[in-house]
Amino acid sequence: MCCPVRAQQPRGGDMDVQKNCMPDRQKLTGVSRRDFIKFCGVMAVGMGLPVGMGPRIAAAATAPQRPPVIWIHGQECTGCSESLLRTSHPTLERLILDLISLDYHETLEAGAGRQAEAAFDQAVKKSAGRFILVVEGSAPVKDGGIYCKIAGKPFVDIVTETAAKAAAIIAIGSCASWGGVQSSAPNPTGATGIPEVLKGKTVVTIPGCPPNPYNFLSTVLYFLTFKKLPDLDDLGRPKFAYGRLIHENCMRRPHFDAGRFAEQFGDEGHRKGYCLYKLGCKGPMTYANCPVILFNDVGSGAWPVGTGHPCFGCTEEGVGFTIPQFTEADVEIVTPAAAHAPITVEKGRGMSKGSAALLGGLAGAAIGAGVMVTKQLGKAESADEKEE
Ligand code: SF4
Repeated sequence: MCCPVRAQQPRGGDMDVQKNCMPDRQKLTGVSRRDFIKFCGVMAVGMGLPVGMGPRIAAAATAPQRPPVIWIHGQECTGCSESLLRTSHPTLERLILDLISLDYHETLEAGAGRQAEAAFDQAVKKSAGRFILVVEGSAPVKDGGIYCKIAGKPFVDIVTETAAKAAAIIAIGSCASWGGVQSSAPNPTGATGIPEVLKGKTVVTIPGCPPNPYNFLSTVLYFLTFKKLPDLDDLGRPKFAYGRLIHENCMRRPHFDAGRFAEQFGDEGHRKGYCLYKLGCKGPMTYANCPVILFNDVGSGAWPVGTGHPCFGCTEEGVGFTIPQFTEADVEIVTPAAAHAPITVEKGRGMSKGSAALLGGLAGAAIGAGVMVTKQLGKAESADEKEE
């Protein structure tokens, strides 16, 4: 809901808007003005922009006019929505929901049946030409699209008709981006990604299974701030989020370069945090910012490789759900990165405080999570010291 107090505020310069709107935001989300500006600065850095863009992003994010969003679901597990709504960070999902006017979302829709159909039609009609269409899930195109119908209509037709009236289109998750798990051979339903369904239209893809909600939030913030989409790669992915291989920023990369590998789950190398390449890690052929922004704000190890599971390439078409998990990846970049954070192998973890500061800097600074990371590592450090 748009805040009525905020809606009545006079529009001024960017800073005026911030001053006028921040108390409402604080009331709505529990985030202080200071933290919100800091959060926007962090998001700016995540988008490859100078940190000084934070206030401008904050002003755009708190403008009274919020972009209407219509969110539809095809062949999917709703993991993308779950990931967005169940972030452990207490404010992220609220920031997203407060930033946008989520006019229609099938999972969050209170109505059902004809009520829901009417709500959808009304939302599209009311915001035609202005709304952001978010598509979660692939569209089956085989046999006229009969394998996924909503209100008796093939999902592929719903996507095509709704996209024609949208201002921008975001395909969220790997299913919507390129077909995902259900497009794996033999793909019995003809599951197809949305860019393929909407050939000729610009579709921003935010792949991942699930995708990181920060990448969705950053894309929306960029669109709100600059009134245009961020730079995209040839697969439609925002370059700020998918411009680098996981392998380039991975906390275990120094082990890869030093030839220290886990050979089996649970072996000594695995326990010591060695590289997971020999367990089939697809980080060397997968582009995503997972090692930098992590997941769920619960600490430095909060991403698959951090927890000891090899990356399976979920953001990369032709890798995730395609190459068997235990097949060794092709290594695109063999030379070590110019600089690494130090590691503390002897202590049985792959990361020191120094590396946490480096990797946790982005996600960690997001409203205090960095403090938590540092505290947790501090505790681990003290525990290790006591053991010694
Ligand atoms: Fe990290 Fe995987 Fe690369 Fe090893 S192979 S450094 S675990 S991304």
